[in-house]
Amino acid sequence: MFVIELVYAARAPEVGSPVENTVKKRRRMKLRGLRAAGLGGVGIEAFAVLAMLGALACAPAHGQTYDVVISHGIVMDPESGLDAVRNVGISNGRIRTISTASLTGKRDIDARGLVVAPGFIDVHEHGQEPRNYQFQAHDGVTTSLELELGTDDVDKWYAAREGKSLINFGVSAGHIPMRIRAMTGQEVPSLSAMNTPVAEAANHRELTAEELGRLRAAIETGLQEGALAEGMGINYTPGASHWEILEMFRLAVKYHAPLQVHLRYSSLLEPQSGAAALEEVIAAAAVTGAQLHVAHITSMGLKYTPQFIEMIAGARRQGVDITTECYPYTASSTNLNSAVFDEGWQQRYDITYKDLQWAETGERLTPESFARYRRQGGLVVIHEIPEAAVRAAVADPSIMIASDGLPITGPKIHPRGQGTFSRVLGHYVREEKALDLMTALRKMTLLPAQLLEKRAPSFRNKGRLRVGADADVTVFDPSRVIDKATFEEPLQYSAGIVFVLVNGVPVVKDGQLVEGVYPGREARAPMPHK
Ligand SMILES: [Zn+2]
Repeated sequence: MFVIELVYAARAPEVGSPVENTVKKRRRMKLRGLRAAGLGGVGIEAFAVLAMLGALACAPAHGQTYDVVISHGIVMDPESGLDAVRNVGISNGRIRTISTASLTGKRDIDARGLVVAPGFIDVHEHGQEPRNYQFQAHDGVTTSLELELGTDDVDKWYAAREGKSLINFGVSAGHIPMRIRAMTGQEVPSLSAMNTPVAEAANHRELTAEELGRLRAAIETGLQEGALAEGMGINYTPGASHWEILEMFRLAVKYHAPLQVHLRYSSLLEPQSGAAALEEVIAAAAVTGAQLHVAHITSMGLKYTPQFIEMIAGARRQGVDITTECYPYTASSTNLNSAVFDEGWQQRYDITYKDLQWAETGERLTPESFARYRRQGGLVVIHEIPEAAVRAAVADPSIMIASDGLPITGPKIHPRGQGTFSRVLGHYVREEKALDLMTALRKMTLLPAQLLEKRAPSFRNKGRLRVGADADVTVFDPSRVIDKATFEEPLQYSAGIVFVLVNGVPVVKDGQLVEGVYPGREARAPMPHK
């Protein structure tokens, strides 16, 4: 509050002037917002007003020197529709001005001919390690979120990354790891720990009443610790009953948290089909009023992806709060030793051994190597998604882009964690003309921010290029941006992403990674009880 009063004093508008009237109006709004917070409301209104006042304080001043100025770039902001050459002034981690006037900065970035966009927000990235963050920064990502599988210990997860991260990071309360922990007592610190023999036995079994009690308590603790969402991968927990899923949806509603869900099935065969699985979660959202986000629509829908997109759009028209996402590849990837490969997988997904590629070596599988590697455990790439499905989802203006990237456990892991965003911009926008650039940027910035801003109001200042927003900025060459990571050579940085700033600090400069900087901050929901 102290800072805000100082701002008023400094601006001292003339009595009766339009500026003074605006200030009065904002003061009244501020009071209303604070009252709402004081009465035990969530305080979101107060936050929004404070953010607005922050923006007011950021009006350009003559003779000012900014920390960083991005000059002469084509500024594209999907929220306002701005698409014009502007100069952007950044100080103290925020965008302070967007102007046609030339600006002075301690650092100047010449963005002539380049697009200046809000930094990309990836709502689905399992690789939350320093090496993944480097690949993601080169792909234009400034906020990387593990919302699908999540974690079993939210506080510990954030603490492990604080002050050590290149880009912003966030996590969900994870149903799979918390369920395993509630049933076995074992911690689940990694992706591979979800598929050990002990964990798999739990994944395939229904909960007892006592275990359900422990699971509920764990999810609530995670949400109280500021988890951004509740994550579920029902495909991986075939023992979870429909009743258990409904319970989990109710918990998310209690904390205004979205659910990011990997569906129960992705099978083409009835009755345990992907369509039935989509119906299950649409019904659960309708029954509970939950905010539902369906993970990777293409690997769930396969050849029925266009019908899935229509089901989701239809549910939305009927008032269900539902969104989805996709990555731009014709293959999925997961652990070979997970429930996804339980008996009958060839019929379910209409694929066979040669469609599976072992991530550690890149070899295509045979019945013999399948059996051996399934016992051993590890990541496999599954060539199963039709190009028409990918194109339908990538081109749809309402579907977010999210990588579903994986920890780098081998030289032939899926390329999606390294190249998703540049592939959409280079291949699908520029080469294929499947969608226009502004629509693509909206799918990578504004839509993901909007998914999370009810739960975490800090996202109102992300995914936008406007005064007062966090200075997470991606500057790229629209004529050159492209993914370089392939199934054969997946560990390649994307090209054409020229500058990336996280909270105002360059992490990619002239296309090169900046060493030794850790400007990434936690993206976390408010913790009213802490
Ligand atoms: Zn998934």
